[in-house]
Amino acid sequence: MGLTTPGGGIEEKVPSGFLLSTVEGLAGYLRKGSLWPATFGLACCAIEMMATSGPRYDIARFGMEAFRASPRQADLMIVAGRVSQKMAPVLRQIYDQMVEPKWVVAMGVCASTGGMFNNYAIVQGVDHVVPVDIYLPGCPPRPEMLLNAILTLHDQIQRMPLGVDRDLAIRKVEAAAIDQ
Ligand code: SF4
Repeated sequence: MGLTTPGGGIEEKVPSGFLLSTVEGLAGYLRKGSLWPATFGLACCAIEMMATSGPRYDIARFGMEAFRASPRQADLMIVAGRVSQKMAPVLRQIYDQMVEPKWVVAMGVCASTGGMFNNYAIVQGVDHVVPVDIYLPGCPPRPEMLLNAILTLHDQIQRMPLGVDRDLAIRKVEAAAIDQ
């Protein structure tokens, strides 16, 4: 039996999917306000990332000042710097050990595309190794740009549906691309 009001059943007044979308919105709001970045700097871009977490740029305003030394306590990887071929499997292992749901920011041109290191030793974009949510240009990007990337990521997290296996969805897309 449903709840009733003088004007009729409450189910008739609540739009379909209202409750689910409200829960998703609340989950997104809570998730984006408590990101846990992994301590992970690879090159010069990491200096700007460290500046972002200091008092001048104050990343604590967004609930994420505590960079975690263990990937099992982190859900955000900021790839700050070029990724060498030798480092690639290590980076992938760290990503695999992070908790779900998790996100990746490619910080700077080197992490995004290889940048000026167009050679055999450097991965030509970290998206060859892990799925990337935000690509941040610049050499190096300033802390304000990293903050802007994080706010853009917040928007993505806010709209993220519940119950989606992100890695599985990405693997399906990759498998479909290989089949073509
Ligand atoms: Fe260094 Fe520039 Fe590459 Fe960042 S983008 S790792 S600052 S060379």
